[in-house]
Amino acid sequence: MRLVRSLLPRHMMIINTLNAQLKTRVEARWPGDQAKWAKLALVHNNQLRMANLCVTSGFAVNGVAALHSKLVVQDLFPEYHQLWPEKFHNVTNGITPRRWINQCNPALSALIDKTLQKPWLNDLDALQGLEAFADDAAFRAEYRAIKQQNKEALAKWIAARTRIEIDPEALFDVQIKRLHEYKRQHLSLLHIIALWQTLVTDPQANRVPRVVLFGAKAAPGYALAKNIIYAINKVAETINQDPRVGNRLKVVFVPDYNVSVAERLIPAADLSEQISTAGKEASGTGNMKLALNGALTIGTLDGANVEIAEQVGSENIFIFGHTVDQVVALKADGYAPAQWRKKDHQLNQVLQALEDGTFSQGDCTAFDAMLHSLGPEGGDPYLVLADFQPYLDAQAQVEALWSDQDAWTRATILNTARCGMFSSDRAIRDYQQRIWQATR
Ligand SMILES: *Cc1c(COP(=O)(O)O)cnc(C)c1O
Repeated sequence: MRLVRSLLPRHMMIINTLNAQLKTRVEARWPGDQAKWAKLALVHNNQLRMANLCVTSGFAVNGVAALHSKLVVQDLFPEYHQLWPEKFHNVTNGITPRRWINQCNPALSALIDKTLQKPWLNDLDALQGLEAFADDAAFRAEYRAIKQQNKEALAKWIAARTRIEIDPEALFDVQIKRLHEYKRQHLSLLHIIALWQTLVTDPQANRVPRVVLFGAKAAPGYALAKNIIYAINKVAETINQDPRVGNRLKVVFVPDYNVSVAERLIPAADLSEQISTAGKEASGTGNMKLALNGALTIGTLDGANVEIAEQVGSENIFIFGHTVDQVVALKADGYAPAQWRKKDHQLNQVLQALEDGTFSQGDCTAFDAMLHSLGPEGGDPYLVLADFQPYLDAQAQVEALWSDQDAWTRATILNTARCGMFSSDRAIRDYQQRIWQATR
Protein backbone atom coordinates (compact mmCIF):
# COMPACT_ATOMS: atom_id res chain seq x y z
CA MET A 1 0.00 0.00 0.00
CA ARG A 2 2.93 2.33 0.70
CA LEU A 3 4.01 2.03 -2.91
CA VAL A 4 0.58 2.97 -4.27
CA ARG A 5 0.24 5.83 -1.79
CA SER A 6 3.59 7.33 -2.78
CA LEU A 7 3.28 6.70 -6.53
CA LEU A 8 -0.49 7.24 -6.99
CA PRO A 9 -1.72 9.41 -4.10
CA ARG A 10 -4.97 10.38 -5.87
CA HIS A 11 -5.77 6.71 -6.65
CA MET A 12 -5.19 5.93 -2.97
CA MET A 13 -7.74 8.58 -1.97
CA ILE A 14 -10.33 7.10 -4.35
CA ILE A 15 -9.65 3.56 -3.12
CA ASN A 16 -10.16 4.76 0.48
CA THR A 17 -13.51 6.27 -0.53
CA LEU A 18 -14.55 3.01 -2.26
CA ASN A 19 -13.43 1.09 0.83
CA ALA A 20 -15.64 3.26 3.08
CA GLN A 21 -18.67 2.75 0.78
CA LEU A 22 -18.04 -1.00 0.75
CA LYS A 23 -17.82 -1.04 4.53
CA THR A 24 -21.32 0.49 4.77
CA ARG A 25 -22.64 -2.19 2.42
CA VAL A 26 -20.97 -5.08 4.28
CA GLU A 27 -22.03 -3.75 7.69
CA ALA A 28 -25.67 -3.56 6.50
CA ARG A 29 -25.56 -7.19 5.32
CA TRP A 30 -23.48 -8.71 8.16
CA PRO A 31 -23.90 -6.35 11.14
CA GLY A 32 -21.02 -6.47 13.60
CA ASP A 33 -19.24 -9.33 11.75
CA GLN A 34 -15.57 -8.31 12.08
CA ALA A 35 -14.23 -11.42 10.33
CA LYS A 36 -16.38 -10.74 7.24
CA TRP A 37 -15.09 -7.19 6.94
CA ALA A 38 -11.50 -8.35 7.44
CA LYS A 39 -12.01 -10.70 4.47
CA LEU A 40 -13.88 -8.32 2.17
CA ALA A 41 -12.07 -5.00 2.77
CA LEU A 42 -10.12 -3.39 -0.08
CA VAL A 43 -7.40 -2.25 2.32
CA HIS A 44 -6.28 -4.55 5.13
CA ASN A 45 -3.07 -4.82 7.20
CA ASN A 46 -1.46 -2.16 4.99
CA GLN A 47 -2.17 -4.26 1.91
CA LEU A 48 -4.22 -3.21 -1.08
CA ARG A 49 -6.24 -6.15 -2.39
CA MET A 50 -6.32 -5.91 -6.15
CA ALA A 51 -8.81 -8.77 -6.67
CA ASN A 52 -11.28 -7.31 -4.16
CA LEU A 53 -10.93 -3.93 -5.86
CA CYS A 54 -11.62 -5.48 -9.27
CA VAL A 55 -14.68 -7.48 -8.19
CA THR A 56 -16.33 -4.67 -6.21
CA SER A 57 -15.74 -1.91 -8.75
CA GLY A 58 -16.15 -3.96 -11.94
CA PHE A 59 -19.46 -4.00 -13.85
CA ALA A 60 -19.21 -7.74 -14.49
CA VAL A 61 -16.96 -10.58 -13.39
CA ASN A 62 -16.46 -13.80 -15.33
CA GLY A 63 -14.49 -17.02 -15.18
CA VAL A 64 -13.15 -18.38 -18.48
CA ALA A 65 -14.58 -21.94 -18.30
CA ALA A 66 -17.67 -23.35 -16.57
CA LEU A 67 -15.65 -24.98 -13.77
CA HIS A 68 -13.57 -21.85 -13.23
CA SER A 69 -16.69 -19.64 -13.07
CA LYS A 70 -18.15 -21.99 -10.45
CA LEU A 71 -14.94 -21.81 -8.38
CA VAL A 72 -14.89 -18.00 -8.67
CA VAL A 73 -18.37 -17.86 -7.10
CA GLN A 74 -18.12 -20.71 -4.58
CA ASP A 75 -14.50 -20.60 -3.41
CA LEU A 76 -13.01 -17.20 -4.24
CA PHE A 77 -15.80 -14.63 -3.78
CA PRO A 78 -18.89 -16.26 -2.16
CA GLU A 79 -19.74 -13.12 -0.14
CA TYR A 80 -19.44 -10.76 -3.09
CA HIS A 81 -21.67 -13.19 -4.99
CA GLN A 82 -24.26 -12.90 -2.19
CA LEU A 83 -24.10 -9.13 -2.44
CA TRP A 84 -24.22 -8.95 -6.26
CA PRO A 85 -25.36 -12.30 -7.71
CA GLU A 86 -26.19 -10.83 -11.14
CA LYS A 87 -22.63 -9.53 -11.57
CA PHE A 88 -21.10 -13.00 -12.02
CA HIS A 89 -20.99 -14.82 -15.37
CA ASN A 90 -19.25 -17.54 -17.32
CA VAL A 91 -17.61 -17.02 -20.67
CA THR A 92 -15.77 -20.13 -21.78
CA ASN A 93 -12.63 -19.25 -23.76
CA GLY A 94 -12.37 -19.92 -27.48
CA ILE A 95 -9.76 -20.14 -30.23
CA THR A 96 -9.78 -18.62 -33.69
CA PRO A 97 -10.47 -21.27 -36.34
CA ARG A 98 -8.84 -19.01 -38.94
CA ARG A 99 -5.40 -19.67 -37.38
CA TRP A 100 -5.98 -22.95 -35.51
CA ILE A 101 -7.33 -25.04 -38.34
CA ASN A 102 -7.51 -23.13 -41.64
CA GLN A 103 -4.00 -21.66 -41.53
CA CYS A 104 -2.16 -24.37 -39.58
CA ASN A 105 -3.88 -27.40 -41.13
CA PRO A 106 -4.77 -26.53 -44.76
CA ALA A 107 -5.12 -30.18 -45.81
CA LEU A 108 -7.71 -30.94 -43.13
CA SER A 109 -9.50 -27.68 -43.92
CA ALA A 110 -9.68 -28.67 -47.61
CA LEU A 111 -11.10 -32.09 -46.68
CA ILE A 112 -13.76 -30.40 -44.55
CA ASP A 113 -14.60 -27.99 -47.43
CA LYS A 114 -14.98 -30.91 -49.82
CA THR A 115 -17.05 -32.96 -47.36
CA LEU A 116 -19.44 -30.34 -45.96
CA GLN A 117 -19.85 -28.35 -49.19
CA LYS A 118 -20.81 -25.27 -47.21
CA PRO A 119 -19.04 -22.46 -45.32
CA TRP A 120 -17.94 -23.54 -41.83
CA LEU A 121 -14.94 -21.36 -40.86
CA ASN A 122 -17.12 -18.51 -39.56
CA ASP A 123 -19.78 -20.92 -38.24
CA LEU A 124 -17.80 -23.63 -36.52
CA ASP A 125 -20.90 -25.47 -35.25
CA ALA A 126 -21.28 -26.60 -38.88
CA LEU A 127 -18.47 -29.09 -38.18
CA GLN A 128 -21.22 -31.25 -36.66
CA GLY A 129 -21.88 -32.26 -40.25
CA LEU A 130 -18.70 -34.39 -40.07
CA GLU A 131 -20.22 -36.73 -37.46
CA ALA A 132 -22.05 -38.66 -40.17
CA PHE A 133 -18.68 -39.46 -41.80
CA ALA A 134 -17.02 -40.97 -38.71
CA ASP A 135 -18.38 -44.37 -39.75
CA ASP A 136 -17.44 -43.89 -43.43
CA ALA A 137 -14.30 -45.95 -44.10
CA ALA A 138 -13.29 -43.86 -47.14
CA PHE A 139 -13.55 -40.60 -45.17
CA ARG A 140 -11.64 -42.13 -42.26
CA ALA A 141 -8.83 -43.12 -44.65
CA GLU A 142 -8.61 -39.56 -46.02
CA TYR A 143 -8.70 -38.02 -42.54
CA ARG A 144 -5.99 -40.40 -41.32
CA ALA A 145 -3.81 -39.80 -44.40
CA ILE A 146 -3.82 -36.06 -43.66
CA LYS A 147 -2.77 -36.66 -40.04
CA GLN A 148 -0.01 -38.92 -41.35
CA GLN A 149 1.25 -36.28 -43.82
CA ASN A 150 1.26 -33.70 -41.04
CA LYS A 151 3.27 -36.07 -38.84
CA GLU A 152 5.80 -36.69 -41.62
CA ALA A 153 6.21 -32.95 -42.18
CA LEU A 154 6.76 -32.43 -38.45
CA ALA A 155 9.28 -35.30 -38.30
CA LYS A 156 11.33 -33.65 -41.08
CA TRP A 157 11.23 -30.28 -39.33
CA ILE A 158 12.18 -31.85 -35.95
CA ALA A 159 15.11 -33.65 -37.54
CA ALA A 160 16.35 -30.41 -39.10
CA ARG A 161 15.95 -28.48 -35.86
CA THR A 162 17.10 -31.04 -33.29
CA ARG A 163 18.93 -33.80 -35.22
CA ILE A 164 16.54 -36.26 -33.56
CA GLU A 165 14.95 -38.79 -35.93
CA ILE A 166 11.39 -39.72 -35.01
CA ASP A 167 9.16 -42.39 -36.54
CA PRO A 168 6.04 -40.80 -38.10
CA GLU A 169 4.17 -44.08 -37.55
CA ALA A 170 4.52 -43.80 -33.77
CA LEU A 171 1.89 -42.21 -31.53
CA PHE A 172 2.71 -38.50 -31.24
CA ASP A 173 2.10 -37.55 -27.61
CA VAL A 174 2.17 -33.75 -27.30
CA GLN A 175 2.40 -31.45 -24.28
CA ILE A 176 2.82 -27.81 -25.32
CA LYS A 177 2.19 -24.98 -22.87
CA ARG A 178 4.06 -22.69 -20.46
CA LEU A 179 6.28 -24.64 -18.07
CA HIS A 180 4.59 -24.59 -14.69
CA GLU A 181 4.34 -27.02 -11.76
CA TYR A 182 0.53 -26.95 -11.88
CA LYS A 183 0.55 -28.01 -15.55
CA ARG A 184 2.60 -31.01 -14.44
CA GLN A 185 5.03 -31.60 -17.28
CA HIS A 186 6.89 -33.64 -14.65
CA LEU A 187 3.92 -36.05 -14.35
CA SER A 188 4.40 -36.85 -18.03
CA LEU A 189 8.14 -37.19 -17.37
CA LEU A 190 7.48 -39.79 -14.63
CA HIS A 191 5.31 -41.74 -17.10
CA ILE A 192 8.10 -41.62 -19.71
CA ILE A 193 10.59 -43.04 -17.21
CA ALA A 194 8.14 -45.78 -16.20
CA LEU A 195 7.67 -46.68 -19.90
CA TRP A 196 11.42 -46.76 -20.44
CA GLN A 197 11.96 -49.01 -17.41
CA THR A 198 9.30 -51.40 -18.73
CA LEU A 199 10.86 -51.48 -22.21
CA VAL A 200 14.35 -52.10 -20.84
CA THR A 201 13.44 -54.77 -18.29
CA ASP A 202 11.03 -56.55 -20.64
CA PRO A 203 12.29 -56.46 -24.25
CA GLN A 204 9.16 -58.36 -25.36
CA ALA A 205 6.88 -55.73 -23.80
CA ASN A 206 4.25 -55.14 -26.44
CA ARG A 207 4.01 -51.36 -26.03
CA VAL A 208 2.79 -48.88 -28.59
CA PRO A 209 5.69 -46.96 -30.22
CA ARG A 210 5.49 -43.42 -28.92
CA VAL A 211 7.15 -40.04 -29.51
CA VAL A 212 6.64 -37.61 -26.63
CA LEU A 213 6.98 -34.00 -27.74
CA PHE A 214 7.27 -31.10 -25.31
CA GLY A 215 7.17 -27.40 -26.07
CA ALA A 216 7.52 -24.98 -23.16
CA LYS A 217 9.22 -21.89 -21.84
CA ALA A 218 9.84 -21.07 -18.17
CA ALA A 219 9.51 -17.56 -16.75
CA PRO A 220 13.02 -16.08 -16.24
CA GLY A 221 13.00 -16.25 -12.43
CA TYR A 222 11.27 -19.65 -12.08
CA ALA A 223 14.25 -21.86 -11.16
CA LEU A 224 12.18 -24.99 -10.46
CA ALA A 225 10.51 -24.78 -13.89
CA LYS A 226 13.98 -24.56 -15.47
CA ASN A 227 15.06 -27.64 -13.51
CA ILE A 228 12.06 -29.53 -14.93
CA ILE A 229 13.10 -28.47 -18.47
CA TYR A 230 16.62 -29.71 -17.69
CA ALA A 231 15.25 -33.02 -16.37
CA ILE A 232 13.13 -33.57 -19.51
CA ASN A 233 16.17 -32.88 -21.70
CA LYS A 234 18.46 -35.22 -19.72
CA VAL A 235 15.91 -38.06 -19.66
CA ALA A 236 15.35 -37.54 -23.40
CA GLU A 237 19.11 -37.72 -24.07
CA THR A 238 19.42 -41.02 -22.18
CA ILE A 239 16.35 -42.68 -23.72
CA ASN A 240 17.00 -41.49 -27.29
CA GLN A 241 20.53 -42.97 -27.19
CA ASP A 242 19.51 -46.29 -25.61
CA PRO A 243 19.90 -49.03 -28.27
CA ARG A 244 17.55 -51.31 -26.30
CA VAL A 245 14.72 -48.85 -26.91
CA GLY A 246 15.10 -48.13 -30.59
CA ASN A 247 12.05 -46.52 -32.15
CA ARG A 248 9.69 -47.69 -29.41
CA LEU A 249 10.17 -44.49 -27.39
CA LYS A 250 11.60 -41.10 -28.29
CA VAL A 251 11.42 -37.87 -26.32
CA VAL A 252 11.84 -34.44 -27.90
CA PHE A 253 11.96 -31.12 -26.10
CA VAL A 254 11.35 -28.70 -28.97
CA PRO A 255 13.39 -25.55 -28.29
CA ASP A 256 12.02 -22.01 -28.41
CA TYR A 257 8.34 -22.90 -28.22
CA ASN A 258 6.04 -20.19 -29.60
CA VAL A 259 2.86 -19.77 -31.67
CA SER A 260 4.62 -20.59 -34.96
CA VAL A 261 5.99 -23.82 -33.47
CA ALA A 262 2.52 -24.60 -32.09
CA GLU A 263 1.12 -24.31 -35.62
CA ARG A 264 3.48 -27.11 -36.72
CA LEU A 265 2.93 -29.40 -33.73
CA ILE A 266 -0.87 -29.23 -33.36
CA PRO A 267 -1.85 -30.64 -36.80
CA ALA A 268 0.55 -33.57 -36.19
CA ALA A 269 -0.55 -34.48 -32.65
CA ASP A 270 -2.30 -37.76 -31.84
CA LEU A 271 -2.55 -37.28 -28.08
CA SER A 272 -3.08 -33.96 -26.27
CA GLU A 273 -1.72 -33.78 -22.72
CA GLN A 274 -3.97 -31.62 -20.50
CA ILE A 275 -2.95 -32.94 -17.10
CA SER A 276 -3.05 -29.97 -14.71
CA THR A 277 -4.00 -30.50 -11.06
CA ALA A 278 -7.80 -30.20 -10.94
CA GLY A 279 -8.84 -26.66 -9.99
CA LYS A 280 -5.66 -24.96 -11.19
CA GLU A 281 -6.16 -24.38 -14.95
CA ALA A 282 -8.67 -21.57 -15.48
CA SER A 283 -9.57 -22.77 -18.98
CA GLY A 284 -6.73 -23.77 -21.24
CA THR A 285 -6.95 -23.09 -24.97
CA GLY A 286 -4.24 -25.44 -26.21
CA ASN A 287 -6.65 -28.24 -25.29
CA MET A 288 -9.19 -26.76 -27.78
CA LYS A 289 -6.66 -26.28 -30.61
CA LEU A 290 -5.48 -29.88 -30.34
CA ALA A 291 -8.96 -31.43 -30.10
CA LEU A 292 -10.12 -29.41 -33.13
CA ASN A 293 -7.21 -30.85 -35.13
CA GLY A 294 -8.06 -34.42 -34.19
CA ALA A 295 -5.84 -35.14 -31.20
CA LEU A 296 -7.49 -37.12 -28.41
CA THR A 297 -7.18 -35.55 -24.97
CA ILE A 298 -5.71 -37.26 -21.94
CA GLY A 299 -6.66 -34.94 -19.13
CA THR A 300 -7.95 -34.14 -15.70
CA LEU A 301 -11.38 -32.69 -14.95
CA ASP A 302 -9.96 -29.16 -15.01
CA GLY A 303 -10.68 -25.94 -16.88
CA ALA A 304 -12.29 -26.37 -20.28
CA ASN A 305 -11.38 -30.10 -20.32
CA VAL A 306 -14.70 -30.56 -18.51
CA GLU A 307 -16.59 -28.95 -21.40
CA ILE A 308 -14.47 -30.70 -24.04
CA ALA A 309 -15.47 -34.02 -22.41
CA GLU A 310 -19.14 -32.96 -22.49
CA GLN A 311 -18.90 -32.01 -26.16
CA VAL A 312 -16.89 -34.94 -27.55
CA GLY A 313 -18.41 -37.62 -25.29
CA SER A 314 -16.71 -39.62 -22.54
CA GLU A 315 -15.80 -42.45 -25.00
CA ASN A 316 -13.69 -40.04 -27.06
CA ILE A 317 -11.45 -38.61 -24.31
CA PHE A 318 -9.23 -40.08 -21.57
CA ILE A 319 -10.18 -38.50 -18.24
CA PHE A 320 -8.23 -39.46 -15.11
CA GLY A 321 -7.08 -38.26 -11.73
CA HIS A 322 -8.33 -36.57 -8.59
CA THR A 323 -11.25 -34.18 -9.06
CA VAL A 324 -11.39 -30.70 -7.50
CA ASP A 325 -13.35 -32.09 -4.52
CA GLN A 326 -10.94 -35.01 -4.11
CA VAL A 327 -7.95 -32.63 -4.25
CA VAL A 328 -9.50 -30.54 -1.48
CA ALA A 329 -10.27 -33.65 0.62
CA LEU A 330 -6.78 -35.09 0.15
CA LYS A 331 -5.15 -31.84 1.29
CA ALA A 332 -7.53 -31.50 4.26
CA ASP A 333 -6.49 -35.03 5.30
CA GLY A 334 -2.83 -33.92 5.41
CA TYR A 335 -1.48 -35.13 2.06
CA ALA A 336 1.90 -36.85 2.53
CA PRO A 337 3.66 -37.65 -0.79
CA ALA A 338 6.17 -39.95 0.94
CA GLN A 339 3.36 -42.35 1.82
CA TRP A 340 2.24 -42.50 -1.82
CA ARG A 341 5.79 -43.27 -2.86
CA LYS A 342 6.16 -45.95 -0.19
CA LYS A 343 3.07 -47.89 -1.25
CA ASP A 344 3.84 -47.72 -4.99
CA HIS A 345 6.86 -49.79 -6.05
CA GLN A 346 6.80 -48.51 -9.65
CA LEU A 347 6.64 -44.86 -8.59
CA ASN A 348 9.53 -45.46 -6.20
CA GLN A 349 11.66 -46.96 -8.99
CA VAL A 350 10.95 -44.00 -11.27
CA LEU A 351 11.94 -41.46 -8.60
CA GLN A 352 15.02 -43.49 -7.69
CA ALA A 353 16.28 -43.33 -11.29
CA LEU A 354 16.07 -39.53 -11.10
CA GLU A 355 17.92 -39.57 -7.75
CA ASP A 356 20.71 -42.04 -8.55
CA GLY A 357 22.27 -40.27 -11.54
CA THR A 358 20.89 -42.64 -14.20
CA PHE A 359 20.01 -39.69 -16.45
CA SER A 360 22.77 -37.31 -15.34
CA GLN A 361 26.14 -39.09 -15.73
CA GLY A 362 26.10 -40.07 -12.05
CA ASP A 363 25.28 -36.58 -10.76
CA CYS A 364 22.80 -37.34 -7.96
CA THR A 365 21.94 -33.67 -7.41
CA ALA A 366 20.99 -32.71 -10.98
CA PHE A 367 17.23 -32.76 -10.35
CA ASP A 368 17.24 -31.72 -6.68
CA ALA A 369 14.88 -28.79 -7.18
CA MET A 370 12.21 -30.94 -8.85
CA LEU A 371 12.65 -33.88 -6.47
CA HIS A 372 12.57 -31.62 -3.42
CA SER A 373 9.21 -30.22 -4.53
CA LEU A 374 7.84 -33.78 -4.90
CA GLY A 375 9.25 -34.92 -1.53
CA PRO A 376 8.18 -34.54 2.12
CA GLU A 377 9.68 -31.06 2.43
CA GLY A 378 8.22 -29.67 -0.77
CA GLY A 379 4.99 -31.52 0.03
CA ASP A 380 4.10 -32.14 -3.66
CA PRO A 381 1.62 -29.24 -3.71
CA TYR A 382 0.23 -30.26 -7.14
CA LEU A 383 -0.38 -33.93 -6.23
CA VAL A 384 1.86 -35.38 -8.92
CA LEU A 385 2.43 -38.57 -6.92
CA ALA A 386 -1.26 -39.02 -6.08
CA ASP A 387 -2.21 -38.87 -9.78
CA PHE A 388 0.69 -41.06 -11.00
CA GLN A 389 -1.08 -44.45 -11.12
CA PRO A 390 -4.40 -43.07 -12.43
CA TYR A 391 -2.36 -41.37 -15.19
CA LEU A 392 -0.55 -44.61 -16.08
CA ASP A 393 -3.91 -46.41 -16.21
CA ALA A 394 -5.28 -43.76 -18.58
CA GLN A 395 -2.13 -44.06 -20.75
CA ALA A 396 -2.74 -47.81 -20.94
CA GLN A 397 -6.24 -47.07 -22.24
CA VAL A 398 -4.67 -44.75 -24.84
CA GLU A 399 -2.46 -47.62 -26.03
CA ALA A 400 -5.45 -49.97 -26.20
CA LEU A 401 -7.45 -47.60 -28.40
CA TRP A 402 -4.41 -46.79 -30.58
CA SER A 403 -4.09 -50.50 -31.30
CA ASP A 404 -7.48 -50.26 -33.05
CA GLN A 405 -6.75 -47.59 -35.66
CA ASP A 406 -10.29 -47.55 -37.02
CA ALA A 407 -11.72 -46.87 -33.57
CA TRP A 408 -9.01 -44.27 -32.89
CA THR A 409 -9.65 -42.41 -36.15
CA ARG A 410 -13.39 -42.50 -35.53
CA ALA A 411 -12.82 -40.83 -32.14
CA THR A 412 -10.53 -38.16 -33.65
CA ILE A 413 -13.11 -37.31 -36.32
CA LEU A 414 -15.75 -36.94 -33.62
CA ASN A 415 -13.41 -34.59 -31.74
CA THR A 416 -13.11 -32.33 -34.79
CA ALA A 417 -16.85 -32.54 -35.43
CA ARG A 418 -17.82 -31.62 -31.87
CA CYS A 419 -15.46 -28.72 -31.12
CA GLY A 420 -17.60 -26.01 -32.73
CA MET A 421 -18.44 -24.31 -29.45
CA PHE A 422 -14.74 -23.58 -28.84
CA SER A 423 -14.64 -21.04 -31.66
CA SER A 424 -13.57 -17.58 -30.49
CA ASP A 425 -16.58 -16.30 -32.49
CA ARG A 426 -18.88 -17.95 -29.91
CA ALA A 427 -16.76 -16.57 -27.04
CA ILE A 428 -16.94 -13.02 -28.46
CA ARG A 429 -20.72 -13.34 -28.88
CA ASP A 430 -20.96 -14.46 -25.23
CA TYR A 431 -18.96 -11.39 -24.13
CA GLN A 432 -21.20 -9.14 -26.19
CA GLN A 433 -24.41 -10.64 -24.77
CA ARG A 434 -23.36 -11.18 -21.15
CA ILE A 435 -20.71 -8.55 -20.45
CA TRP A 436 -20.31 -5.63 -22.88
CA GLN A 437 -23.91 -5.35 -24.09
CA ALA A 438 -22.71 -2.81 -26.64
CA THR A 439 -25.38 -1.12 -28.77
CA ARG A 440 -24.79 0.46 -32.16
C1 LIG B 1 -2.51 -21.74 -27.17
C2 LIG B 1 -1.14 -21.43 -26.70
C3 LIG B 1 -0.86 -21.45 -25.32
C4 LIG B 1 -1.88 -21.83 -24.28
O1 LIG B 1 -1.72 -23.23 -24.05
P1 LIG B 1 -2.41 -23.94 -22.81
O2 LIG B 1 -2.18 -25.40 -23.05
O3 LIG B 1 -3.87 -23.59 -22.86
O4 LIG B 1 -1.74 -23.43 -21.58
C5 LIG B 1 0.42 -21.16 -24.90
N1 LIG B 1 1.41 -20.88 -25.78
C6 LIG B 1 1.19 -20.86 -27.12
C7 LIG B 1 2.32 -20.54 -28.04
C8 LIG B 1 -0.09 -21.14 -27.62
O5 LIG B 1 -0.30 -21.11 -28.95
